[in-house]
Amino acid sequence: MSESVKKIALLGATGSIGRSSLDIISRFPERYQVVALGGGRNIRELIALARRFQPQLLAVQEEAGAGELIQALRDCGLSIPVMVGQSGAVAVATHPQADIVIAAMVGAVGLEPTHAALKAGKDVALANKESMVMAGRLLNQVAAATGAAILPLDSEHSAIWQALNGEPKKGVEKLILTASGGPFRDFSLAEMGQVTPAQAMRHPRWEMGPKITIDSATMMNKALEIIEARWLFDVVPERIEVLVHPQSIVHSLVEYVDGSVLAQLGLPDMRLPIAYALAYPERLVLDLPKLDLAALGQLDFFEADAKRFPALRLVRQALAAGDSGAIAFNAANEVAVERFRQGEIGFLEIAESVEKVLNTVTREDFSTLTEILDFDKKIRHLMS
Ligand code: MG
Repeated sequence: MSESVKKIALLGATGSIGRSSLDIISRFPERYQVVALGGGRNIRELIALARRFQPQLLAVQEEAGAGELIQALRDCGLSIPVMVGQSGAVAVATHPQADIVIAAMVGAVGLEPTHAALKAGKDVALANKESMVMAGRLLNQVAAATGAAILPLDSEHSAIWQALNGEPKKGVEKLILTASGGPFRDFSLAEMGQVTPAQAMRHPRWEMGPKITIDSATMMNKALEIIEARWLFDVVPERIEVLVHPQSIVHSLVEYVDGSVLAQLGLPDMRLPIAYALAYPERLVLDLPKLDLAALGQLDFFEADAKRFPALRLVRQALAAGDSGAIAFNAANEVAVERFRQGEIGFLEIAESVEKVLNTVTREDFSTLTEILDFDKKIRHLMS
């Protein structure tokens, strides 16, 4: 593998995962080349990336940004086609030259391009957990049919992937996802009721985009990760647990039937799981700060509290309600997080509105992308 250059299509290029991915890619120009880039609203950064990586295709979310991007490319003498919206994201995800697609968009909009990439037989390094939450069953079927691989980028899932490496599946007793607990780990319910969007945006360990940072504060992120793990590793939800670990050094663990527990440790830096997925099964020589356990001295672990973090209870209800439950859970959360960011609802009302929606859902499983997207739309409409 090392003698040929791996060609990469990257969606979500201007987000936190996108930047970390480009950091890894640019350290190994003899191994990796960017062939297509998709970005959101940060047009200036996308222009800079286009100049630096000179991909063969660019995509932006909105028409407004496309004009500015096209003009800027013309000004610097670059002729790179620019596409807009979902069709642009799908074109990046299915770029004929791409060997691997990094899916790092935020939210449900990531589903269509992820699905398209797998359908085209491309390996997908998946950071967009929402697509697995909404359509894990379908994405696994599509991947199995085309021979494409779904490679986890989420740090917890990368840890589990590493801890499962080479082990027969029947030996697995349970998966244990670690959670930092977010900025309100020690807050009472009353204190959480007063939390502002600015407070929820300050994560103690990880630097991430706004949506996932708020999801970490509600622990909705961990709830979504349970569903993600359920599909990524084909393990029943009853065998997936959450353990609070504030230092974010142990990224997750696998317990085996003999009582042995394997974990993956490392500094909280998304470049590690990204590098692992890109180079798998090799490991890249990374010149990054190394974990110093003696300097850390101790690692702490606590039971997760579903009373103060109802997301951990609601996810079990969502899982019991099948595909419709997971889709409703995700859609309701996305809408509620946006409302919280706009100051329309309080912090605790995020979980409350998710619960309200979940209580209206009856179990339904879906076998097509259209059914899944329609149900997602239906839930969002219900909340409007
Ligand atoms: Mg994670």
